[in-house]
Amino acid sequence: MTDFTMKTDTDGVATIIWDTVGKSMNVMSRDSMALLSDLIDDALADDAVKGIIITSGKDTFAGGMDLNVLASIRQESGDNPAQGLFDFTMAGHHMLRKVERAGMDPKTNKGGKPIAAALPGTALGIGLEVPLACHRIFAADNPKAKIGLPEIMVGIFPGAGGTTRLVRKLGAMAASPLLLEGKLNNPQKAKAAGVIDEVVPADELLAKAKEWVLSEPKIVKPWDEKGYKMPGGAPYHPAGFMTFVGASAMVNGKTQGVYPAAKALLSAVYEGALVPFDQALKIEARWFTNVLMNPSSSAMIRSIFINKEALEKGANRPEAPDQKVSKVGVIGAGMMGAGIALVSALAGIQVVLIDAKQDAADKGKSYTAAYMDKGIARKKATEEKKEAVLGMINATTDYAALEGCDLIVEAVFEDVGIKAEVTKNVQAVTGPDCIFATNTSTLPITELAKASADPEKFIGIHFFSPVDKMLLVEIIKGKETGSVAVAKALDYVRQIKKTPIVVNDERFFYANRCIIPYINEGIRMVKEGVEPALIENAAKLVGMPLGPLQLTDETSIDLGVKIAKATKAAMGDEYPNEAVDEVLFWMFDQERLGRKSNSGFYAYDDKGKRQGLWDGLTAQYPVADDQPDLTTVQHRLLFAQVLEAVRALEEGVLEDIREGDVGAILGWGFAPWSGGPFSWLDIIGAPYAAERCDQLTAEFGDRFKTPDLLREMADKGQEFYKRFGQAAKAA
Ligand code: NAD
Repeated sequence: MTDFTMKTDTDGVATIIWDTVGKSMNVMSRDSMALLSDLIDDALADDAVKGIIITSGKDTFAGGMDLNVLASIRQESGDNPAQGLFDFTMAGHHMLRKVERAGMDPKTNKGGKPIAAALPGTALGIGLEVPLACHRIFAADNPKAKIGLPEIMVGIFPGAGGTTRLVRKLGAMAASPLLLEGKLNNPQKAKAAGVIDEVVPADELLAKAKEWVLSEPKIVKPWDEKGYKMPGGAPYHPAGFMTFVGASAMVNGKTQGVYPAAKALLSAVYEGALVPFDQALKIEARWFTNVLMNPSSSAMIRSIFINKEALEKGANRPEAPDQKVSKVGVIGAGMMGAGIALVSALAGIQVVLIDAKQDAADKGKSYTAAYMDKGIARKKATEEKKEAVLGMINATTDYAALEGCDLIVEAVFEDVGIKAEVTKNVQAVTGPDCIFATNTSTLPITELAKASADPEKFIGIHFFSPVDKMLLVEIIKGKETGSVAVAKALDYVRQIKKTPIVVNDERFFYANRCIIPYINEGIRMVKEGVEPALIENAAKLVGMPLGPLQLTDETSIDLGVKIAKATKAAMGDEYPNEAVDEVLFWMFDQERLGRKSNSGFYAYDDKGKRQGLWDGLTAQYPVADDQPDLTTVQHRLLFAQVLEAVRALEEGVLEDIREGDVGAILGWGFAPWSGGPFSWLDIIGAPYAAERCDQLTAEFGDRFKTPDLLREMADKGQEFYKRFGQAAKAA
C-alpha cells in the first residue's frame, strides 16, 4: 500500500487518490511527495489520459505537512541545513509547478491536461496548497470541513506556493486574513472568499470534477498570461501601496514584532509581488527557509504542534484500561463548575451538576444555555443542538443523582473543610471506587485526599478560567494518587478536547507557581518607581499576551490579596513579597479590585472598557527619575517565570519538559514565539541564562538565584531538550 494511487477510467480521466497509510487524515511526507510527483509525470506522459483529478480516499482531503519532516531535513542536512531546507522547498515548488503547467507549451500556453482537485472535506496547509496548484478546486458541501492555511499558528507560513498563489489569486488584501491569521473557512465561505471554485453535493463530487476535466476547459493561470495584474494592485500601484503599508503596520501591531514568521510572510508577499511568478516562488522558498532556520520557529513547531499533540494522545498516560467517562458529577455550579458542566456536555458526557441551592444549580446550567444561544446567533449551533446539550445536564441539589457517575469533579468554595464534607457526601452515594477530582487552585491535593475513603482514587483536575476557552488542564497527582486515577483524568481531558499536563503536588502546582512571580515582579517594579507603561509594554514586546498589571486586573486584586495572605501564613519569616503586598493591599484598600469593580491598575469606562493606566498609581508610587532599560524589565519578567519552571523540574513537580513548555503557552500565554520556558532557555543558552541570573541576583535579590540545575547545565554547556527531551529519555 502507498499513500497515493492512480487509476484511469475508460473516458481517459486519471484519478489520483491520496490515502495516507495508517493515519485517519492524510499528511504529506517526503516519500508521498515523491510519489505524487511520479504519478503526475506518468499521467501527463500517458496519451490515454485526458485529464486528472486529485482526491482523497478518506472523508477529509488532508491535514497538511507532516511537520516532523521539516525537523528531520534540518537534522539530515549536516553542516548546511539551510541549503537542505531550501532544496527541499524548491523540489516542492517544481512538483506543484508541474501540476500547474500540466504540460502546456511554455511560450504559447497551448496544450496541457486539466487537473481538478476534489476535496471531500477538510483541506489544510499543503492539503490546500496542492489544490491551489490545480486548475479548479471542487469541494463537497460539508459545512464541518475546514479549508485554509493555518501554518502561521505554529510559527511558519505556507511555503509550498500557497503564499504566492493565494496572493496572486485574491490580492494581498483579501489573502491577508487567510495567510496572516490562518483563518479557516467551511467550503461555502471558502468559495465566497475565492479560495476554492465550486461547492457541490458530496455524492456528486467526483462526477462534477470529471465533467469539468472533460469539458476542455481553459487551464492557464492568470499569472501565466501576458498582462496579468494582481487583484487590488501590486506594491507600487496606489491601491496596493495602501494595502502593503497597512498590512505592515497591522502585523507589527498584532505581533509586537516577536514572531519571525509573520514578518517573513509579509516580506515574501511584498517582494514576490514585484517579480514574475517563478521568481516569486523562489523568494517564498528563501523566506520559508529563513523562518525554518529561526530557532523560534522550530521551538514553536515542537511545542505547539508536535509536543502538544503527543500530550493530547496520552504521551504520559500510565498503562490502564480505557477510562472514558460516561457520567460526570460536577459539584459546585459556580463560575468553574458551570464551565466544566458545559464542556463535558458538549463532549457528549452526561452531567449531574450539584449546588447547595437549586437556583445556584440552575444558574450554573444557564451558562450552557447562554453559550449555546451565542452559538446559534453565530450560526454555529442550532436549537436542536442546544436542547440536546442542555438535556445532558441534570442540575440538582440531590446527591442521590450521582449514582452511576464514573468521575466526580469538585468545584466548590476554596475551603478545606467544605471540600472534605463534600467528598464524604459524594462518596456516600458513589462508593470509594469512583475517581474523585478536585479543581482546587491552591490547596494541596494530598491534604484534600485525606477526606477520601481511597486516596488512590483522588486526584486534582485543575481547569483554567474561562473553562470553555482555555485549552490547558493541569492534572495533579497527590502523594497517593494511583495510575487509574491519572488515566481517568487523561481520558476525560481527551474527551473534552483539551490539552493535559500531569504534575506533582507542590504549592501552586505548575502554572500558578510560574505566573504568580510574573505578576509579583510587575507590581514590585511599580513600588520601585518603574514607569507602569514601561512594565506593561515590556511584557507585551516580549510576547506576553497581557502585562502583569493588566493580568492582575483580570484575575482580580482581592484574589491576589487572598493568595498573598495564605502564602505568607504558610511561609512565615521566609515570605519574600512584602514590597509587592504593599502595593497590592493599598489597591485593595482603595477598593480598586480590578476589572470586576471597573477600577484597578487601569481605569475603565462605565461600560467596563479598559482605558489607560490609572494615574492614581503613579501619584502614590512616583515614577523614578532613572528608568531601567527595556531588556532589564523584560528579563526580570521572563526570568521570574522561567526560574520557577526550572525549580519545578528540579523538584520533580514537572516530570517532562514538554509539559512545562506546552503548559506555559496554553496555560498562561508564556511568549509563544519562544516555544515555552525551557525552549527559551535553550535559545539563549544555559551559560548566558546563568550569567544573567547572577547579574539580576546582584541587582534585585535572591529570587533570581541561579538554580543548581541551570548552573550545572551552564557549566557543562547542556541544553534542556538534549538532556531531558524524548530523544534523551529514549537513549
Ligand atoms: P464560585 O464561588 O464561583 O463557585 C463555587 C460554587 O460552589 C458556588 O456556586 C457555591 O454555591 C457552591 N458550593 C459551595 N459549597 C457547596 C456545597 N457544600 N455543596 C455544593 N455546592 C457548594 O467559585 P469558582 O471560582 O467556581 O471556584 C470553584 C473552585 O475552583 C475553587 O476551588 C477554586 O479555587 C477553583 N478554581 C477557580 C478558578 C477561577 O479562576 N475562579 C480557576 C481554577 C480553579
